[in-house]
Amino acid sequence: MSSVSPIIIAVDGPAGAGKSSVCRGTARLLGWHYLDTGAMYRAMTWAVLHAGIDPADAAAVAAFAPTPVIASGTDPDAPTIVVDGTDVSAAIREPDVTTAVSAVSAVPKVRELLVARQREAARAALQSGTGIVVEGRDITTVVLPNAQVKIFLTADPQIRAQRRAKEEAGSAPVAGDAVRATQEALQRRDQLDSTRAASPLTQSKDAAELDTSHLTLDEVIEEVIARARAASR
Ligand code: C5P
Repeated sequence: MSSVSPIIIAVDGPAGAGKSSVCRGTARLLGWHYLDTGAMYRAMTWAVLHAGIDPADAAAVAAFAPTPVIASGTDPDAPTIVVDGTDVSAAIREPDVTTAVSAVSAVPKVRELLVARQREAARAALQSGTGIVVEGRDITTVVLPNAQVKIFLTADPQIRAQRRAKEEAGSAPVAGDAVRATQEALQRRDQLDSTRAASPLTQSKDAAELDTSHLTLDEVIEEVIARARAASR
Protein backbone atom coordinates (compact mmCIF):
# COMPACT_ATOMS: atom_id res chain seq x y z
CA MET A 1 0.00 0.00 0.00
CA SER A 2 2.87 2.37 0.70
CA SER A 3 3.49 2.50 -3.06
CA VAL A 4 0.88 5.26 -3.36
CA SER A 5 2.61 8.66 -3.11
CA PRO A 6 1.16 11.11 -0.60
CA ILE A 7 -1.69 13.05 -2.17
CA ILE A 8 -5.08 14.45 -1.19
CA ILE A 9 -8.21 12.35 -1.70
CA ALA A 10 -11.34 14.53 -1.42
CA VAL A 11 -14.70 12.82 -0.96
CA ASP A 12 -18.12 14.52 -0.94
CA GLY A 13 -21.63 13.13 -0.98
CA PRO A 14 -24.98 13.09 0.78
CA ALA A 15 -25.58 11.82 4.31
CA GLY A 16 -25.37 8.06 4.70
CA ALA A 17 -23.56 7.34 1.41
CA GLY A 18 -20.79 5.62 3.37
CA LYS A 19 -18.21 8.42 3.30
CA SER A 20 -16.88 7.88 6.83
CA SER A 21 -16.38 4.11 6.54
CA VAL A 22 -14.84 4.44 3.08
CA CYS A 23 -12.55 7.34 3.96
CA ARG A 24 -11.41 5.90 7.28
CA GLY A 25 -10.80 2.50 5.72
CA THR A 26 -8.85 4.01 2.83
CA ALA A 27 -6.69 6.14 5.13
CA ARG A 28 -6.06 3.18 7.40
CA LEU A 29 -4.91 0.92 4.55
CA LEU A 30 -2.65 3.61 3.11
CA GLY A 31 -1.31 4.68 6.52
CA TRP A 32 -2.53 8.23 5.83
CA HIS A 33 -4.35 10.92 7.78
CA TYR A 34 -8.16 11.12 7.78
CA LEU A 35 -10.27 14.23 8.31
CA ASP A 36 -14.01 14.10 9.00
CA THR A 37 -15.13 17.68 8.32
CA GLY A 38 -18.73 16.79 9.22
CA ALA A 39 -17.50 16.12 12.77
CA MET A 40 -16.10 19.68 12.87
CA TYR A 41 -19.50 21.18 11.90
CA ARG A 42 -21.15 18.89 14.43
CA ALA A 43 -18.66 20.02 17.10
CA MET A 44 -19.43 23.68 16.34
CA THR A 45 -23.15 22.83 16.59
CA TRP A 46 -22.61 21.09 19.93
CA ALA A 47 -20.79 24.20 21.20
CA VAL A 48 -23.61 26.47 19.96
CA LEU A 49 -26.23 24.36 21.76
CA HIS A 50 -24.05 24.03 24.87
CA ALA A 51 -23.73 27.84 25.04
CA GLY A 52 -27.53 28.16 24.92
CA ILE A 53 -27.53 29.86 21.51
CA ASP A 54 -30.43 29.31 19.13
CA PRO A 55 -28.94 27.47 16.11
CA ALA A 56 -31.49 29.19 13.86
CA ASP A 57 -30.19 32.65 14.90
CA ALA A 58 -27.51 33.06 12.20
CA ALA A 59 -26.22 36.38 13.58
CA ALA A 60 -25.76 34.94 17.08
CA VAL A 61 -24.08 31.81 15.69
CA ALA A 62 -21.71 33.95 13.57
CA ALA A 63 -20.77 36.11 16.59
CA PHE A 64 -20.13 33.01 18.73
CA ALA A 65 -18.28 30.95 16.08
CA PRO A 66 -14.70 32.18 16.83
CA THR A 67 -15.08 31.28 20.55
CA PRO A 68 -14.88 27.46 20.79
CA VAL A 69 -11.53 25.78 20.25
CA ILE A 70 -12.23 22.73 18.10
CA ALA A 71 -9.47 20.14 17.74
CA SER A 72 -9.85 17.21 15.36
CA GLY A 73 -7.44 14.28 15.44
CA THR A 74 -6.59 12.81 12.03
CA ASP A 75 -5.62 9.24 13.00
CA PRO A 76 -8.06 6.95 11.11
CA ASP A 77 -7.79 4.35 13.88
CA ALA A 78 -8.93 6.84 16.50
CA PRO A 79 -10.36 10.05 15.04
CA THR A 80 -10.96 12.42 17.95
CA ILE A 81 -12.99 15.59 18.22
CA VAL A 82 -12.57 17.88 21.19
CA VAL A 83 -14.24 21.21 22.02
CA ASP A 84 -12.50 23.38 24.63
CA GLY A 85 -10.89 20.29 26.13
CA THR A 86 -14.10 18.19 26.21
CA ASP A 87 -14.22 15.00 24.13
CA VAL A 88 -17.48 15.32 22.19
CA SER A 89 -17.12 12.29 19.88
CA ALA A 90 -20.29 10.66 21.24
CA ALA A 91 -22.26 13.85 21.95
CA ILE A 92 -21.98 15.11 18.35
CA ARG A 93 -23.89 12.03 17.10
CA GLU A 94 -26.91 12.75 19.33
CA PRO A 95 -30.20 13.74 17.62
CA ASP A 96 -30.16 17.34 18.95
CA VAL A 97 -26.87 18.01 17.13
CA THR A 98 -27.93 16.13 13.97
CA THR A 99 -31.13 18.19 13.79
CA ALA A 100 -29.36 21.55 14.22
CA VAL A 101 -26.16 20.96 12.23
CA SER A 102 -27.44 22.04 8.81
CA ALA A 103 -28.53 25.45 10.14
CA VAL A 104 -25.19 26.06 11.87
CA SER A 105 -23.13 24.91 8.89
CA ALA A 106 -25.03 27.27 6.57
CA VAL A 107 -23.57 30.29 8.43
CA PRO A 108 -20.72 31.73 6.28
CA LYS A 109 -18.60 32.73 9.31
CA VAL A 110 -18.69 29.14 10.59
CA ARG A 111 -17.58 27.86 7.19
CA GLU A 112 -14.80 30.44 6.87
CA LEU A 113 -13.31 29.41 10.22
CA LEU A 114 -13.61 25.65 9.71
CA VAL A 115 -12.47 25.64 6.06
CA ALA A 116 -9.24 27.38 7.12
CA ARG A 117 -8.64 24.60 9.68
CA GLN A 118 -9.39 21.91 7.10
CA ARG A 119 -6.93 23.35 4.58
CA GLU A 120 -4.35 23.59 7.35
CA ALA A 121 -4.83 19.89 8.23
CA ALA A 122 -4.28 18.92 4.58
CA ARG A 123 -1.18 21.11 4.34
CA ALA A 124 0.23 19.65 7.57
CA ALA A 125 -0.28 16.07 6.36
CA LEU A 126 1.49 16.66 3.05
CA GLN A 127 4.28 18.57 4.76
CA SER A 128 4.89 15.59 7.03
CA GLY A 129 5.14 13.38 3.95
CA THR A 130 1.73 11.73 4.44
CA GLY A 131 -1.38 11.72 2.26
CA ILE A 132 -4.81 12.61 3.61
CA VAL A 133 -8.39 11.52 2.94
CA VAL A 134 -10.88 14.34 3.59
CA GLU A 135 -14.63 13.84 3.61
CA GLY A 136 -17.48 16.34 3.63
CA ARG A 137 -19.90 18.24 1.40
CA ASP A 138 -17.71 20.91 -0.23
CA ILE A 139 -14.25 19.37 -0.16
CA THR A 140 -13.99 18.73 -3.93
CA THR A 141 -15.61 22.07 -4.81
CA VAL A 142 -14.42 24.66 -2.27
CA VAL A 143 -12.04 23.38 0.42
CA LEU A 144 -9.51 21.42 -1.65
CA PRO A 145 -10.47 21.83 -5.33
CA ASN A 146 -6.92 20.89 -6.36
CA ALA A 147 -7.07 17.48 -4.69
CA GLN A 148 -5.54 14.85 -6.96
CA VAL A 149 -8.46 12.46 -6.44
CA LYS A 150 -12.01 13.81 -6.23
CA ILE A 151 -14.92 11.49 -5.59
CA PHE A 152 -18.66 12.07 -5.22
CA LEU A 153 -20.00 9.13 -3.24
CA THR A 154 -23.68 8.28 -3.66
CA ALA A 155 -26.09 5.46 -2.90
CA ASP A 156 -29.75 4.79 -3.42
CA PRO A 157 -31.73 6.81 -0.79
CA GLN A 158 -33.42 3.71 0.59
CA ILE A 159 -30.13 1.86 0.92
CA ARG A 160 -28.58 4.89 2.65
CA ALA A 161 -31.48 4.92 5.12
CA GLN A 162 -31.21 1.18 5.74
CA ARG A 163 -27.48 1.43 6.43
CA ARG A 164 -27.89 4.43 8.75
CA ALA A 165 -30.84 2.88 10.64
CA LYS A 166 -28.81 -0.29 11.11
CA GLU A 167 -25.87 1.71 12.46
CA GLU A 168 -28.17 3.54 14.88
CA ALA A 169 -29.89 0.34 16.07
CA GLY A 170 -26.57 -1.38 16.88
CA SER A 171 -27.26 -5.07 17.54
CA ALA A 172 -31.07 -4.60 17.84
CA PRO A 173 -33.30 -5.51 14.85
CA VAL A 174 -34.24 -2.61 12.57
CA ALA A 175 -37.97 -1.83 12.29
CA GLY A 176 -39.45 -0.72 8.95
CA ASP A 177 -40.72 2.46 10.63
CA ALA A 178 -37.20 3.31 11.75
CA VAL A 179 -35.91 3.03 8.16
CA ARG A 180 -38.71 5.31 6.91
CA ALA A 181 -38.05 7.89 9.64
CA THR A 182 -34.31 7.76 8.94
CA GLN A 183 -34.91 8.20 5.20
CA GLU A 184 -37.04 11.28 5.86
CA ALA A 185 -34.43 12.75 8.20
CA LEU A 186 -31.61 12.14 5.69
CA GLN A 187 -33.70 13.69 2.91
CA ARG A 188 -34.40 16.76 5.02
CA ARG A 189 -30.70 17.22 5.79
CA ASP A 190 -29.63 16.66 2.16
CA GLN A 191 -32.22 19.20 1.02
CA LEU A 192 -30.91 21.82 3.48
CA ASP A 193 -27.26 21.05 2.66
CA SER A 194 -27.86 21.19 -1.12
CA THR A 195 -29.89 24.38 -1.22
CA ARG A 196 -27.99 26.67 1.19
CA ALA A 197 -26.27 29.75 -0.25
CA ALA A 198 -22.80 29.09 1.21
CA SER A 199 -20.92 26.13 -0.37
CA PRO A 200 -23.92 23.86 -1.00
CA LEU A 201 -23.46 20.14 -1.57
CA THR A 202 -22.99 19.78 -5.34
CA GLN A 203 -21.11 17.39 -7.55
CA SER A 204 -18.18 19.14 -9.20
CA LYS A 205 -17.69 18.35 -12.89
CA ASP A 206 -14.33 16.74 -12.30
CA ALA A 207 -15.38 14.57 -9.34
CA ALA A 208 -15.93 10.93 -10.26
CA GLU A 209 -19.29 9.63 -9.11
CA LEU A 210 -19.08 6.36 -7.24
CA ASP A 211 -22.41 4.68 -6.49
CA THR A 212 -21.95 2.40 -3.49
CA SER A 213 -25.49 0.94 -3.49
CA HIS A 214 -24.45 -2.51 -4.65
CA LEU A 215 -20.80 -2.57 -3.60
CA THR A 216 -19.25 -3.85 -0.40
CA LEU A 217 -17.17 -1.51 1.73
CA ASP A 218 -14.00 -3.34 0.67
CA GLU A 219 -14.90 -2.96 -3.01
CA VAL A 220 -15.42 0.79 -2.63
CA ILE A 221 -12.13 1.21 -0.75
CA GLU A 222 -10.34 -0.81 -3.43
CA GLU A 223 -11.77 1.49 -6.11
CA VAL A 224 -10.68 4.64 -4.23
CA ILE A 225 -7.19 3.27 -3.74
CA ALA A 226 -6.97 2.32 -7.44
CA ARG A 227 -7.80 5.93 -8.34
CA ALA A 228 -5.22 7.22 -5.85
CA ARG A 229 -2.59 4.93 -7.30
CA ALA A 230 -3.38 6.09 -10.84
CA ALA A 231 -3.32 9.77 -9.79
CA SER A 232 -0.05 9.50 -7.92
CA ARG A 233 1.88 7.99 -10.86
O1 C5P B 1 -20.89 14.17 7.46
P1 C5P B 1 -21.95 14.44 8.49
O2 C5P B 1 -23.27 13.87 8.12
O3 C5P B 1 -21.54 14.09 9.87
O4 C5P B 1 -22.10 16.03 8.44
C1 C5P B 1 -22.97 16.71 9.31
C2 C5P B 1 -23.40 18.01 8.66
O5 C5P B 1 -22.30 18.91 8.60
C3 C5P B 1 -23.94 17.95 7.25
O6 C5P B 1 -25.32 17.59 7.21
C4 C5P B 1 -23.72 19.36 6.76
O7 C5P B 1 -24.74 20.22 7.20
C5 C5P B 1 -22.43 19.76 7.48
N1 C5P B 1 -21.24 19.67 6.65
C6 C5P B 1 -20.95 20.71 5.81
N2 C5P B 1 -19.80 20.71 5.09
C7 C5P B 1 -18.93 19.71 5.19
C8 C5P B 1 -19.21 18.60 6.02
C9 C5P B 1 -20.39 18.60 6.73
O8 C5P B 1 -21.73 21.66 5.71
N3 C5P B 1 -17.79 19.76 4.51
